[in-house]
Amino acid sequence: MKNSYFWAALFILTLVNCRKTLSVNDRPMIDTEAFHNRNMGVSAAELLDDNIYRFLFVEIQFIAACKPEQATLDYLKSFLETYLNKPKGINIVLNEIPVIKQDALSRDEVLAIEKQKRTRFMNQDTIALYILFTNGVHPGNKILGMAYRNTSAVIYGKAIRKYSSMAGRLTHQELETAVLLHEIGHLLGLVNKGSTPISQHIDSTFHDHCNNRKCLMFHSVETKNLSSILLKGNIPVLDSNCIKDLIANGGKNVPDYQPFIQPFDPAY
Ligand SMILES: [Zn+2]
Ligand SMILES: [Zn+2]
Repeated sequence: MKNSYFWAALFILTLVNCRKTLSVNDRPMIDTEAFHNRNMGVSAAELLDDNIYRFLFVEIQFIAACKPEQATLDYLKSFLETYLNKPKGINIVLNEIPVIKQDALSRDEVLAIEKQKRTRFMNQDTIALYILFTNGVHPGNKILGMAYRNTSAVIYGKAIRKYSSMAGRLTHQELETAVLLHEIGHLLGLVNKGSTPISQHIDSTFHDHCNNRKCLMFHSVETKNLSSILLKGNIPVLDSNCIKDLIANGGKNVPDYQPFIQPFDPAY
């Protein structure tokens, strides 16, 4: 009798083991480095929907002088929670890195820093973003931020400081928030870079951008020109065309959503 229990137990154990092996085999092995080394917007659906990735980890690395302000982080969390389907949650973690010697940082130089410093990557049902707040500037000196791979973006802190806080214009925190959310918008596939436009709202000159001057995805939001059009207290938000694109690509459907910040009225 004892013997038959033994064989039954062994049989069940074998079954359990088989199942485990099968479920691991079910999911193809993913090359983490290759996963994060794709073009801007390619991960839009992976970030927006919950088909595979149900948890989002946002790793922010910063140089001490360019630490993002708490209100900026609050806006980021609210923005992500509004549009992303991540039922297991969204975590934002900050860590400081040493000052970067070069002043001008090209895409390749930023990428080299990321490759050396980034610690969080996709894993099972978690997807990860990497945002670098650097003390550098873009070599052209016109761009304040850049989404440069499918899960990576840089915010040029020195440029943000330079172009903010002019009388009556956006404060440092407001400009930082606008640029950061604009780059996140690119990572979410806006415009026509991974999230297919539901209506025609692509800017005819500045591709990847929205043609609505009041939208967060208008091209000047990430450039130094922004500071001359935005009035203090009025950070741009996504317009309905951009929101529809996100929803169609798996983003949260929030019909009654009220922007957490006031839409702005550019002073042209
Ligand atoms: Zn842009
Ligand atoms: Zn738009």
